[in-house]
Amino acid sequence: MRERAGSLVLVATPIGNLGDLSPRAAQALAGAALICAEDTRRVAKLLRHAGITAVRVVVANEHTERERIPDVLDTLADGGDVALVSDAGTPGISDPGERIVRAVLDAGHAVTTVPGPVAAVAALVVSGLSTARFVFEGFVPRSGTERARRLAAIAAEPRTVVLYEAPHRIARTIADLVAACGPDRQVVVARELTKLYEEVQRGPLGEIDVGTPRGEYVIVLSGAPPSHEPPDDDTIRQALRHELGQGAGTKEAAAAVAERYGIPKRTAYSLAVGTLKER
Ligand code: SAM
Repeated sequence: MRERAGSLVLVATPIGNLGDLSPRAAQALAGAALICAEDTRRVAKLLRHAGITAVRVVVANEHTERERIPDVLDTLADGGDVALVSDAGTPGISDPGERIVRAVLDAGHAVTTVPGPVAAVAALVVSGLSTARFVFEGFVPRSGTERARRLAAIAAEPRTVVLYEAPHRIARTIADLVAACGPDRQVVVARELTKLYEEVQRGPLGEIDVGTPRGEYVIVLSGAPPSHEPPDDDTIRQALRHELGQGAGTKEAAAAVAERYGIPKRTAYSLAVGTLKER
């Protein structure tokens, strides 16, 4: 074993435009003793573009990622760096990578990254929707209860939601989102980002028309508006008990809770009186 063990480097690659391959990404690929790639033809194109030759490439896709682990660990122990790339964008994001990262960390080696393109973030930042808080849902399950449950959770999610979708399922997913969220929820459908036919549609869900879907899509959905449902009495009583327990008087506690939940002071006051009687 050499004195210095190598590092696993997660290298982000373009999501369409080869010009987005960063100099540091090219350097990491050129300097690697081994490149783990989701698809050898795709990586060969990238390596040709960057003028890189004579690097050993092995396939690490969703079926073979686990099998690659011994080769990766041996290379690292021998002092070589291993670059991990997926077909496009950032490895590990709806792409293989997670298993190799876990195995490398468990073996005590370093994991680092050359960050770069990721379709979810590219779509989010051009969406015009809130970027302050967002969640990434990847691909929604294709069918059944799991799909229905996930769509219901997405519909109730207050943060901006980013989804990936395949072209042959995009129309169906938009229709299901209309059913789950209603037609008025704002959405952005970003297609073929960074490519020749890049297109971004923005508007209410009910007005999105994907036509004949072609290429790659990201859906960015505005978060659910705050619920206007009044809180139930138990929630109010619990808040009142807390205020009273902190030493507030009945009126004071009722006023504070009424303001917090947007309910009439009278309602809060009578619940506060009831709460005091229970004590
Ligand atoms: N690892 C990739 C990343 O960092 O974005 C994602 C890989 S995932 C298998 C592929 C999905 O990403 C596509 O189905 C699409 O939803 C989205 N995608 C990738 N490239 C895209 C692009 N140029 N424009 C829009 N969506 C894209």
